[in-house]
Amino acid sequence: MGLTISMQNTTIAYDSKVEGEVIVTQADAVINWIRKHSVWPMPMGLACCAIELMGAGGARFDISRFGMEVMRFSPRQADCMIVAGTVTYKMAEVVRRIYDQMAEPKWVVAMGACASTGGMYRSYATLQGVDNIIPVDVYISGCPPRPEALLDAMIKLQDKIGTERSVKNLIPKKADSAELAGAAKES
Ligand code: SF4
Repeated sequence: MGLTISMQNTTIAYDSKVEGEVIVTQADAVINWIRKHSVWPMPMGLACCAIELMGAGGARFDISRFGMEVMRFSPRQADCMIVAGTVTYKMAEVVRRIYDQMAEPKWVVAMGACASTGGMYRSYATLQGVDNIIPVDVYISGCPPRPEALLDAMIKLQDKIGTERSVKNLIPKKADSAELAGAAKES
C-alpha cells in the first residue's frame, strides 16, 4: 500500500512495503496536519450571521466532518475566532480582549459583510471591518453567508495552516525575548 500527499510544508510519503511501520516526514507537516484537523472555534456571534454559524453545526452541514464542532466559549480553549455579525464600537473592545486572551497559534475568520467591512452599516456606531482591531485570516462575503460558505472558508483556513512554518514560529522573536527578559528583571 502506498500513500503520498504533497503540499507545501505538509509533505507525507509512505509506502508500507518499503518503510514498514515507520513514517518519515517533516515536523512542520506533522504539526500543521494536527492543527488543521483540530481547529476549536470561538463563536463570536454578534448578530444574524451567528444563526448561519449555528446552522453549520447542525446535522445538515455538520462542521464536525472537519473536526471543528468543538465550539469553546472560553478563549483559553479556542484557537480560531469566528466573528459572525456586526461589530459595534461598544463590542469592539470586548472582541479585542477575548482575542488577546486566546493562546497562540490563533486564527480569525470574518464571517459576513458586517464583520468584514461593516456591511450596510455606514454609521458612527459600527466598526468598518473587524480587521481594524484584530488580524483576519479568511473573509467570507455575503449577507448572510450560507453555512456552506463558512465551511468553504474553514477549508481555506486549513490550507493556510498547512503552509505555516510551525517549528520556526515556536522560537520567540527577538522583541518577545527582550520583553520576557525585561519582565523577569522587574519581578
Ligand atoms: S452580514 Fe447581514 S446577516 Fe450578517 S450580521 Fe450583517 S446584516 Fe446580519
